[in-house]
Amino acid sequence: MTDRHTAEGLPLGRLLRRRRGWLLAGIALILLSLFAGVALLALSGWFITASALAGLGVIAMLDIFAPGAGIRLAAITRTVARYGERLVTHEATFRLLADLRLALFERLLRLDEVQLRGLQRGDTLNRLTADVDTLDHLFLGVIGPGLSAFLLTLLAAFLAALWVDPGVALAVALVLLAANPLVAELARRRGLAASRGLVAALPGLRRQAGDGLEGLQELVAFDLGAAQREALETRSAHMISLQERLQRLDAASQAGVTFAGFGATWLALALGLALLQAGIISGPVLGLLVLGVLALGEAWQPLPAAWRRLEQCRGATARLGDSWAQAPLLAVADAPVAPHGRRLTLQNVTFGYRADLPPVLEGFSLDIAAGERIAVVGPSGAGKSTLAMLLMRQLDPDAGTVQLEGVDLRELDPDGLRLHIGLLSQRPVLFRDTLAENLRMAQPGASAGELMHALEIAGLGAFVAGLEDGLDTWIDEAGSNLSGGEARRVSLARLALTDCPVVILDEPTTGLDAATARGLAQTLDRWLAGRTTVMITHDPELLPRFDRVVRLSP
Ligand code: ADP
Ligand code: MG
Repeated sequence: MTDRHTAEGLPLGRLLRRRRGWLLAGIALILLSLFAGVALLALSGWFITASALAGLGVIAMLDIFAPGAGIRLAAITRTVARYGERLVTHEATFRLLADLRLALFERLLRLDEVQLRGLQRGDTLNRLTADVDTLDHLFLGVIGPGLSAFLLTLLAAFLAALWVDPGVALAVALVLLAANPLVAELARRRGLAASRGLVAALPGLRRQAGDGLEGLQELVAFDLGAAQREALETRSAHMISLQERLQRLDAASQAGVTFAGFGATWLALALGLALLQAGIISGPVLGLLVLGVLALGEAWQPLPAAWRRLEQCRGATARLGDSWAQAPLLAVADAPVAPHGRRLTLQNVTFGYRADLPPVLEGFSLDIAAGERIAVVGPSGAGKSTLAMLLMRQLDPDAGTVQLEGVDLRELDPDGLRLHIGLLSQRPVLFRDTLAENLRMAQPGASAGELMHALEIAGLGAFVAGLEDGLDTWIDEAGSNLSGGEARRVSLARLALTDCPVVILDEPTTGLDAATARGLAQTLDRWLAGRTTVMITHDPELLPRFDRVVRLSP
């Protein structure tokens, strides 16, 4: 599994590098705000001690202006840096997630139809999005706070070694750098089972809740509602108990971090008192040291919870990596598609979706000449849509070849092929956007006139002219505010905006009355002139003129 990932793994490293600037700026700001916090408390310690000593007459002259200004500067810096840190780290995370989603979905787009349906059937897509979201913890929750607590401790120790005493600095730094990661790692190990259990349980809960809602009528009809609810509650109770365990663990590790901080503070006090007695440091410096270390200890507070979440991130990354590794199943070939290639040939093609069932097509051969128009007819389930997907390489045959102008489709550049062969699919997809934007997907720069022309080819000219908002009409998800026939014709118009030399129309007349279908046949006839066309139908009466009928039997 790991080998496959390293060979073709999730490009997390590349994505992180690409947003390097934002990530580094984020860490720098976190560091600055933490440092200002430590400086604030340290300077206050110095100032309070110095004031007390001045009050006792131990110190003759106290400069209140320099430390006062320092304290104010630290306070303002902390506030500003914290604000900036939020802005920058969230921006960095959003950009990173957007990159990741984009890379992932681009990759998924290369799956063929069958693989995509497999993803849809399982809750893979659901889990995929959840996993991508889990990864936002990776930076905001883990890398950011962990790295900056570590760097802050090094920085503070360096300054303390320079200005106070190297021995104290080293001792305190060692305590913090050893104890805190230890606490965090212990907490992570103890919480491992619960963390994993939680990650594993979530999809099940989601699925069951979804099924319960979808099948509500059936559940009620068969009086299974109570059983379903009980099962759901059992799952939920299980997850709550896991969460409780993790929360308790978080509380305990918080206590551990606090304890480590106090230990370091105590050490600083003990060692500092010895230095004070030896006359190496002054009273105010001791105050500075002790309060500074106290603040430093607090910077480690977020570490254990963050470290524990690393486990979730790791699970999510591994699963995303799996989806990633699954994706490039269409081997990438790059022979350019001959621009005028219009002849399609199937030679002895055998294809089946499942090994345990007889193949849908077996030893099937068909030669479609350049510019020829054929009608493929046959009863439902005969394999007409399957043939369409084989012709445009949404599917690859198990045996035999599909060729465009004599070249096996598997050798052709897939992107070029997609632009070359246009498909009106049996279940066309519309997006939640305006009519114009739905059409422009096929040709981004198309003018309103071109859009209207395409709509006329699809027989929708009068329909759109009658719409109040015309081309700006909003289309709901999956075109649910259009009739089935209208949605199909919008997709047809989208296809008519392209200039594909080869066109496949899967049931173009479904959902149309005879009169509309005949009108469509006329406008389509003109647009199809010169293109190689495969028209799938169970009613050849309603199609535009064609040269030949191919019959498929189940
Ligand atoms: P038609 O378009 O002629 O109605 P299809 O090509 O859609 O037929 O389907 C042909 C056969 O393949 C049918 O028996 C159908 O059940 C099966 N089939 C279609 N798509 C899938 C799929 N994704 N997975 C498994 N079987 C499928
Ligand atoms: Mg079909």
